Amino acid sequence: MKKKNSKDGSGSKNQKPVNTEQIRKGLIVAHRGVAVDVVFDDGECEMVRVKRRSGHVVGDGVAVRGEVLKRLPRRTELRRRDARGAVHLVGANLDVLGIVVAPRPAPPSGFIDRAIVAARVANLQPFVVLNKSDLDASAELFASLLATYSSAVSVFSLSASKGQGLDPLLDFLAEGHRGAFVGTSGVGKSSLLNVLCPGIDLGVGEISEYGQGRHTTTVATLNTLSGGGELIDTPGFRDFGLVDISVQDLSEHFPGFEKARDSTCRFRDCRHRSEPGCAVVELVTQNQVSAERYENYLEILQEVEAAEEETRRRGWKN
Ligand code: GDP
Ligand code: ZN
Repeated sequence: MKKKNSKDGSGSKNQKPVNTEQIRKGLIVAHRGVAVDVVFDDGECEMVRVKRRSGHVVGDGVAVRGEVLKRLPRRTELRRRDARGAVHLVGANLDVLGIVVAPRPAPPSGFIDRAIVAARVANLQPFVVLNKSDLDASAELFASLLATYSSAVSVFSLSASKGQGLDPLLDFLAEGHRGAFVGTSGVGKSSLLNVLCPGIDLGVGEISEYGQGRHTTTVATLNTLSGGGELIDTPGFRDFGLVDISVQDLSEHFPGFEKARDSTCRFRDCRHRSEPGCAVVELVTQNQVSAERYENYLEILQEVEAAEEETRRRGWKN
C-alpha cells in the first residue's frame, strides 16, 4: 500500500498534482483525532484532515474531493458509553462482534448475555471467544459456554498467548468481514489483536489510556487480516465496552429465547415475567428453556429495569 500525506507533502517528490474535481471513494482505516487515514479504492492511503467532532469513524466509507470528505451511508453503527455516561460511536459498517471471556478474570454475571443482546440490537452477529485455553479451568468453562450458547452463536476456544486454536476464528472472520472485540480488562483482547493482526503492536497487560505509549495519537484503527476479514480496534471501546441495553432489547434478543419468536407472546411489549400468554414462560414450562437460563434472564431484567430508572433520573440520553 502506497502511503502519502495530503497536507505536508512528505511523500514522493513525483506526486501528481491533486485534481480537486476528482471524487475518489475510500475507507477510513485510522482515526487520529484531527485527521483520518483513508485507503482509496486504488489501494492508495492518504491522511485527510477532519474536524475534531466531525463524526467520522473507522469503517466509514467516504467520498473525497480535494480535501473535502463526505461520509457515505452506514450499514451498521457500533456505540459505547463512557464512564460519564456519554455515548460514542466507535466504528461503522461492522458485521460481527467477538465477546471475549477467560477463566481468569471470569466473566461478570450477565456479561455475555448483555453483549449478545447489544450486538443483535446493533445488527451485528455476535460470537463468543474463550481465551486462555491453556489454563486448566478453561475446559469446564468451555463446556458450559457450549451448553448455554452454541445453539445461538458460535463459540471459539483458543489461547492468544500460545497462538493455539486460532484457525477456526480466522476462518470465521474471513466470512464475517469486519468485527471488533469486547470483553472485560485482562481477558486478553490486546493479546488476541496482536496475534491476529501482526503489526498492530498493542501493549499487553497495560491499562490503556490516552496519552500513554504508542497509541497517543491513533485513537482507532481498522486492521486487515491476511486470510480475509478486518478487525477494528479502539482503545476506548476496549476499556469501557458497549452501551446499555433496554428492557425491550433484552426481552427481544436474550440468547436462548429464539424459539419464542415463532410463537409470540400475547403482548407485544411482554417482559416474559408474569404476563398472561407469554411464549417464553411456556417454553420454560416445556423445558425447552432451562429454569436456570430463565432465572438468569429475570436477574438481568431486574438490573436493566433499575438502570433504566437510574438513566431517567439522571437524564442521560441514548
Ligand atoms: P486485555 O486487557 O483484555 O487487553 O488483556 P491483555 O491482552 O492485556 O492480557 C491480560 C493478561 O492475560 C496478560 O498478562 C496476558 O499475558 C495474559 N494472557 C493473554 N492471553 C493469554 C492466554 O492465552 N493464556 C494465558 N495464560 N494468559 C494470557
Ligand atoms: Zn413473554
